[in-house]
Amino acid sequence: MNVHDSERLAGMLEEAGYVPFVQGVTPDLIVFNTCAVRENADNKLYGNLSHLVPVKAKNPGMQIAVGGCLAQKDQHTILKKSPVVDVVFGTHNIGSLPVLLERARIEQEAQIEIMESLVEFPSVLPAKRESAYAAWVSISVGCNNTCTYCIVPALRGKERDRRPGEILAEIEALVAQGVSEITLLGQNVNAYGVEFGDREAFSKLLKACGEVPGLERVRFTSPHPGEFTDDVIEAMAVTPNVMPQLHMPLQSGSNEILRAMRRSYRQDRYLGIIAKVRAAMPDAAITTDIIVGFPGETEEDFLQTMHVVKEARFSMAYTFLYSPRPGTEAAEMPDQIPHAVKQDRYERLVAVGNQIAWEENLKQVGKIVEVLVAQGEGRKDGDTDRVSGRTPDFRLVHVTVDPNQPRPRPGDVVTAEVSFAAPFHMVADRLVSVRRTKAGDLSELPPEVAGISLGMPTIRVGTA
Ligand code: SAH
Ligand code: SF4
Repeated sequence: MNVHDSERLAGMLEEAGYVPFVQGVTPDLIVFNTCAVRENADNKLYGNLSHLVPVKAKNPGMQIAVGGCLAQKDQHTILKKSPVVDVVFGTHNIGSLPVLLERARIEQEAQIEIMESLVEFPSVLPAKRESAYAAWVSISVGCNNTCTYCIVPALRGKERDRRPGEILAEIEALVAQGVSEITLLGQNVNAYGVEFGDREAFSKLLKACGEVPGLERVRFTSPHPGEFTDDVIEAMAVTPNVMPQLHMPLQSGSNEILRAMRRSYRQDRYLGIIAKVRAAMPDAAITTDIIVGFPGETEEDFLQTMHVVKEARFSMAYTFLYSPRPGTEAAEMPDQIPHAVKQDRYERLVAVGNQIAWEENLKQVGKIVEVLVAQGEGRKDGDTDRVSGRTPDFRLVHVTVDPNQPRPRPGDVVTAEVSFAAPFHMVADRLVSVRRTKAGDLSELPPEVAGISLGMPTIRVGTA
């Protein structure tokens, strides 16, 4: 969500006449688009700002803006803590950035704009996308849940849903620009439709994506196990361009902890959804988010999480140490877990998760996989001359290419046989086919000729 907001910020700044900074030249503007979901994101911002004090002293015309969740949370504190900041803008004020910068310049005074709720859906703003072939598409913003550890609802507000027609129009426009992969974005995509009263809106949207000619890959994040309904599994299974991949946050495997987190499902329901997904899509890769060390988490609770990880066989588990967020209920709970205990559980869980991820990748060895070549993803290994990309189920593969043929470009699709597997990537040494695509053609053109915005955003992203 944060990265997608950065694309909007970059698009608006470009429309206002800004150009991307060139390496080695001091930029006129630095924008920090911040995250506040865990504590280390806070620490990073203030550390970065202090590094900029001498830079700004040497370049008095330089402007620094801070937006996103941390700006929404800290508001005036940012200006007090860091006098180098010229503009502070909240999560609902993305559209105001160019005007606030202009005002700060003219009035020679720091500007702050924080609204409590969304007026305009950010998707109406121009975007400067990082990739020619893949795009994020927001289907909702905000969240109506009240998970006790989570700062998101306080900073992003109540859920607002975009209408399906508007979403599909954006997707069609993206495909016309050469995009072949989209990721639908929402804090709880299974709640999509709550605002306009259609409980099956998300599965209908997935099926409608299946009707868009030229759209090859559809993904989404994040579903909520409490609201996950069977029609979504069915839509995933019957819609060929919806990828056999599911990122479904678990958070904890313990029923007691799930209750304390105010997550509305329990272990059996979570595993039940996985069983149904695997029955409908045997090749689906499932990934998750887990928090360890939530207040009151006992060794037994932790072992329940371990149990689910072993049962579910995630192809990747993103594990986080519980981070108390001031203003959330969990931050006030008794029995906060000492850091050393959190760290120990984290390491044990990661070890088991990585072993399973590795075993799951090993099962792919010998299979022919289809890889959508990515831009700059994976390792930079000049000697092996491989291209990197993702399979339909989102595994990272480095593919050896034929040195006598034109090199596959970002957005092209190759098929190859997997020859090696590590926990987080695979290598495919036998190239079977290369399909050159419109996105690949576009990747070779300068952005102004291609007619779309490409390249790294002007924005420096300060995320978790
Ligand atoms: N809406 C999504 C998650 C958004 S936040 C959902 O409900 O699943 C992304 C991830 O950050 C969460 O899945 C959670 O694992 C992690 N997270 C959120 N708050 C956290 C906290 N206080 N401490 C540690 N991890 C946290
Ligand atoms: Fe946060 Fe829970 Fe909403 Fe996800 S569902 S954004 S974790 S409150």
